[in-house]
Amino acid sequence: MPQTSKSPPILVWHPQAEAYREALARRLPGALVEALVPGSGEAEALVVRAARIAAENASGGRASSPAGTGEPPAEAYGAGAPGRAAGAKRSSAGAGAVVLLAWQLPSGLLRALPSLRWIQVTGAGVDHFLGRDDLADDVLVTRSLGRFGQQVAEYVVAHLLHHLVDIAGYRDRQRRRLWERGERPLLADRTVGVIGLGSLGMPLARTLAAFGTRVLAMRRSGADSEGVERVYGPASWRRMLPSCDALVLAVPHTPETDKMIDAGALAALPQGAVLVNVARGGLVDEEALLAALESGHLGAAVLDVFAREPLPEDHPLWRQERAWITPHIAAPSELGPMVDEFVANYERFAAGKPLLNLVDRDRGY
Ligand code: NDP
Repeated sequence: MPQTSKSPPILVWHPQAEAYREALARRLPGALVEALVPGSGEAEALVVRAARIAAENASGGRASSPAGTGEPPAEAYGAGAPGRAAGAKRSSAGAGAVVLLAWQLPSGLLRALPSLRWIQVTGAGVDHFLGRDDLADDVLVTRSLGRFGQQVAEYVVAHLLHHLVDIAGYRDRQRRRLWERGERPLLADRTVGVIGLGSLGMPLARTLAAFGTRVLAMRRSGADSEGVERVYGPASWRRMLPSCDALVLAVPHTPETDKMIDAGALAALPQGAVLVNVARGGLVDEEALLAALESGHLGAAVLDVFAREPLPEDHPLWRQERAWITPHIAAPSELGPMVDEFVANYERFAAGKPLLNLVDRDRGY
């Protein structure tokens, strides 16, 4: 893309910002790309600038131009050198960004980006962005799909098979040199409930169906889906729970889904069922979950996500034998697919075309 006034400046705010900048400089040679690594001096300068603007706004004052005016600063839209921004060490580094590529941002930071029009999140979940009070109504938010569907399908199947084949149990018998044969159940004879049939839930449902598993699911629209025997809507989904040997959560965390897996939902699952949460910790009432694990009603909980992350060291889930904990790794963002998706959307943005994977901010996903 030649550098023109149609090359909106990009800010990458990410622990891997330099790698993103290098990849984007190759793919979008005409675009100004600034890379800020959280915690670096330049990133901190932007945080301080945002705090100053917030303080000025709160005191009814006017933020120094251009931050408080809504006007793009001088370096916006095509100004400056391509690739690494010239003079990136100045305290206003990144402040002229029209486009932001990020996963997580300090609170208030968006106030220091007055020209911002579009944020591409390097993940599928955007709940942490939509709740921000510094996100202007007219800023577009898009998400990335990466290979999350495939990653989650493999993660879930790995854990379900681990439990069904009792891999941990046989390992333990091996240590004790015990030749002791247990049952050998099949995924093909089980029923799995999938909550959410989007970019994660849909490939998972298809993968399970390929194993011969009976799949039930729940989604907002209640619309049917290939490989799923029956799809429930928000009003009726609890009816499917007594049939589910395993229940997988793959739904966004929104006001409607907050703590949807409560004591009643857990009690409705059959004795010994497995709960798998690859979506967000806020979907589950953790106290009710702990009680269901302690009583043995739940056979296991495979948890990749938690209400607080990292899971605090003193959290009782760490000590719960029936909990299988992973540190939010079910579907990590991979740089290559993130860059591909961003470049495709950037070209659309620059051409004034509708963006892919646009988040419906009212719906919350
Ligand atoms: P999508 O937006 O693609 O799909 C969401 C699904 O949830 C849709 O089927 C939607 O229904 C359904 N849904 C949304 N709200 C409701 C509701 N109130 N009641 C019932 N169903 C509802 O999301 P993804 O599949 O991409 O991701 C799901 C979540 O997984 C993300 O929001 C994120 O939090 C998490 N995630 C976790 C990762 C990890 O590494 N652990 C990685 C990636 C994502 P409908 O189809 O009718 O619209």
